[in-house]
Parts: sequence; structure tokens; C-alpha cells
Amino acid sequence: MLKRNPCMANIKAGYLFPEIAKRRREYEAAHPEARVISLGVGNTTEPLLPHIDAGLVEGARRLGTAEGYSGYQDEGLLSLREKISQVFYRNAAGPAFGADELFISDGAKCDIGRLQLLFGAKVRAAVQDPSYPVYVDGSVLIGAAGAWEGSGYGGISYLPCTAENNYFPDLSKLPVNGLFYFCSPNNPTGATANREQLEALVKTALEKGVLIVYDAAYAEYIRDPALPKSIFEIEGARDCAIEVNSFSKPAGFTGVRLGWTVVPRGLKYADGESVNADWARVAGTIFNGASNIAQAGALAALDEQGIAEMRELCDFYLGNAALIRGCLQKLGISCVGGDNSPYVWAHFPGRDSWDVFGEILEKCQVLSTPGAGFGPAGQSFIRFSAFGHRQDVEEAVKRLSKL
Ligand code: PLP
Repeated sequence: MLKRNPCMANIKAGYLFPEIAKRRREYEAAHPEARVISLGVGNTTEPLLPHIDAGLVEGARRLGTAEGYSGYQDEGLLSLREKISQVFYRNAAGPAFGADELFISDGAKCDIGRLQLLFGAKVRAAVQDPSYPVYVDGSVLIGAAGAWEGSGYGGISYLPCTAENNYFPDLSKLPVNGLFYFCSPNNPTGATANREQLEALVKTALEKGVLIVYDAAYAEYIRDPALPKSIFEIEGARDCAIEVNSFSKPAGFTGVRLGWTVVPRGLKYADGESVNADWARVAGTIFNGASNIAQAGALAALDEQGIAEMRELCDFYLGNAALIRGCLQKLGISCVGGDNSPYVWAHFPGRDSWDVFGEILEKCQVLSTPGAGFGPAGQSFIRFSAFGHRQDVEEAVKRLSKL
């Protein structure tokens, strides 16, 4: 028989959420009367808002007409790429990116997976620790994991982001000529990098030849106007960064599937070849573009009414986050996030995060996520997600008071 790709055995993330689900099943089997409330996952729960929903319906209807029909759109509808540049990347001189620098995708996670093809197995990658699992697992899949150390393959550096460094990594640890996955507002910590931190990040990346993959999937949750929503608000970022983003969390498109990636035209590899040209090639070779119906929904999300709806949706989840954060603070549990992000990262010093997860499930019938599942520095932390119906979150918060 054919041999398995040995990288498959090294993927760890598949373990986290199935393990949580297993522990929930075991608890429910032992306590059939219990109603467990989940504050554990990053999946959206609220229905699409009406204007955006109507955009999707209209997009589907148009496909059934001769004048409205469209087929493959590898890099995405031109109108949507222009609109994204106008809405999200506008500076004093107008839209900051041409349509050829924006690529519409079926989601940020899918693009992060595909992006890794650009760099190959010999890349030295670095991640914030803890981090969203696809950065590490995608690197493992292409073979760039430490397991092959000494064989000429890359390797992954974990840069701890803890209370001691205010959840911002020590940039001196970035690998020279490497790749750095950076997420702000962060999943899982909820910490949001400020302008000075991002300026330091870009400066270091330029000095060390690092390419930043900046994940801005939660940017629309930023409410503090002093905090940058995009790495491209920082001078020099065009020469060292790619940004991935998504309609999943601001518009509730987790099931609709739509995101985008910005690859500046001038971004170059060490040999002077264009990263943008290669990315266009990847899009045409193994992707073929996002759903035209989803893109119609995104166009609706980016007009005046749609933007107002996205804000309303994010405000709703931020309201949940405020309830969770307020409850933990009253209990004297120190936490970060929840103000400009939908995640609250709670610290239980000296405790094992799976033990705390178990205690919360037992005492409160609330499901959370053990921080250790996101990387070694997540040990003794718990992630609470604000994605939930309001009455469930209110009930969960009441129960958490028992902690
Ligand atoms: N990036 C981060 C940091 C996330 O937390 C998530 C989803 O939870 C994604 C990307 C996935 O985005 P998408 O639904 O667009 O694939």
C-alpha cells in the first residue's frame, strides 16, 4: 500500500476540539439532567442581518439570469476587490491597494493554508505562543516542523506571549529571513497590538528579512480608535507583510465562507521574484475562486447599511464579552481581551488549564477552551468565547459566579 505522508502524524490541533467534545459527552452521560452551555468555540451563532442576507439572496437570483450570470472569478469580482480597498484600506490619497493586490478567498483559514505553499518546507516559521492552530499545523503539513531538525528543513519557533510581556512577543527571537504569523486582535488571548508594537514589528521584520503573515480576522471588533486595524497602517509594511482577513466574524459568514488576502505588488522574495505574482498563480492553480453568491453578500456588507449591520453584530458579541469579562473580574480572576475582541483570556496561575476546564464544567456546566491547546504558553489559561446567544451567555455568567 501507499505510504502515509509522515507530516500527517505530527498535526496536533485535531486533538483539541475533539477532546473537548469527548469530555462534554462524558460529562453529559454522567449527568443527563445538566444543560451544558458552550463558551468554548469561535463559531458565530446569530443569524445574518437583513441587508446582508438580501445581498446573498439577490446574488443567487442573478445567477439565474442571462445578464447576471458569472462563472469562475479566480481572484474575485473586480467590484468587490475595489470595494474592500475603499472600505478597509483607504488613506488620505484614496484606496491604498489596486485590485491586483487583493485576492478574494473562501476564508482566511483556507488562505493561510495555501499561503504556506509559497515558502516550502525549508522555511523557518515563528508563531505567537499561544496561537490559532492553523499557523503551526499548516507548517507541519508542508514539512516545516522541528521534527526534521538537522535534515535541512525549517522549523517552528514559539514566541511566548504572556502576562509578563503584555502578550506581545520578544521580537529579537524572530528568525532571520523567516516567516512570522501574527494575529491581532489575537485568538486566543484577545490582546490587540498597539501602534508602537506594530511599528516595532515592522521595523524588526525589515531589518531581519522576515515576512509577516498578519491575520486581521477580528479587526472589526476593535473599538479603541487608537488601535490599528491593519498592518498596512504602519509605514514599511508593504515591503514585509501579507494580510489575511475574513467576513466570518464581522458579518457572520462562518458558514457562507468568504475572506481576502492582500499581497502588495512590491513584495519580493530574496531572489527578487514577486510574491504577488506567485500568489496569483496559486489562486489560479489550486483554488479557482470563491462563491459568486458569497461575494454578492460581501458587496452588500460593504455598503453603508451593510457596514452598519456588521458593526451591530460585532457590538452584540462584544456585549457578551463584556458580561464574561465583568463576571471574571468580579471573581478576582485576572483576564485580558474582550474589549476589542470576542475572546476573554483568563489566568489561573499555577493551575493546569485542562484541570481548570474540568472544574468549570463540573461546577458550572460551562464549556470553555483550555489555553494549553493553543500552545505551551497557554498553560494555566482558559479562553472564553463571546460567540453565543445572549440568554445563554447571561446564564453562563450566573453559573461562573460559583467558581
Ligand atoms: N483567523 C483566526 C485568527 C481565526 O480565529 C479564525 C477562525 O476562528 C480564522 C482565521 C478563520 O477564518 P475563516 O472563517 O475566514 O476561514
